Amino acid sequence: MLMNYHEPLFRPPSEGNSLIFQVTLGCSFNQCSFCAMYKTKQYTEKPLKEVLAEIDRMAFLGSRIEKVFLADGDALNLPTEHLLRILERLNARFPALRQIASYALPNNLKKKSAQELMALREAGLSLIYYGIETGSPDLLKRITKGATREVMIAGLNKASDAGLKISATVILGLGGKALWQDHIAGTVDLINQTRLDYLSTLQLFLHDSVQEEFITKFEKRGGVFVPQDDAGMLQEQYHLIAGIEPARSLEFRSNHASNALPLKGRLPDDRDELLKLVEAGQKGKIPLRPLYYRAM
Ligand code: SF4
Repeated sequence: MLMNYHEPLFRPPSEGNSLIFQVTLGCSFNQCSFCAMYKTKQYTEKPLKEVLAEIDRMAFLGSRIEKVFLADGDALNLPTEHLLRILERLNARFPALRQIASYALPNNLKKKSAQELMALREAGLSLIYYGIETGSPDLLKRITKGATREVMIAGLNKASDAGLKISATVILGLGGKALWQDHIAGTVDLINQTRLDYLSTLQLFLHDSVQEEFITKFEKRGGVFVPQDDAGMLQEQYHLIAGIEPARSLEFRSNHASNALPLKGRLPDDRDELLKLVEAGQKGKIPLRPLYYRAM
């Protein structure tokens, strides 16, 4: 067997053409209340020898491989020395590589020093995928994200200073009907203090296995969670796009399958056009993606 994937295996939508090496299994945190991705997996670090042997086995693909994604949930949790050995082997076996990416958690970026992140960048790690989810301090606690807004801002700016590209996600609907304004205001504020390259929105979709946990943790801090409908989601989308004033231009997308309205453009450059599209969606002038086509 060439690759020995341990299911379930997740990757960002834009990594569809990448060769995936599973260098860790699961998520080292695994406590976000909305997330069912790795609930069935125990976090494990694959032995370096095994990963290097897998890379060697795929070396016959040579220059056909231009992009590699390091799975699972937070490859960046591996010790830096370990990651550097993997990056070095990838570059040796795939000479046409132009991108190596992985997911990164707030705690990964907190633990790695600026020098370590720079060394990883120089060794070929070029892009990290990061779940902001929300910038609201209250909501970050309600969803048990395991990080404060300040920790996230500091980590993201450290990664950006090290030359890593950042693709971040925000989850619309996380605050429900009661807290949506706090959710969007806090998120806009966080984004405006960072330098993201890509920003995507997802719409909250609670898998059956986490629904009870999500609602219990949310309501423990007061109030009742009432889910947003599409009108509420579009209202959040509108205010998010309207509020973002990035330090440098970023690519904005809501083309993930969970979204009611697929959007794509640059912020701030295409803001007016994007807002017009959201308004058209709100007024029913352009159709929303049918519910049965949506997935998280
Ligand atoms: S959202 Fe990310 S950090 Fe949180 S449990 Fe899921 S994979 Fe882990």
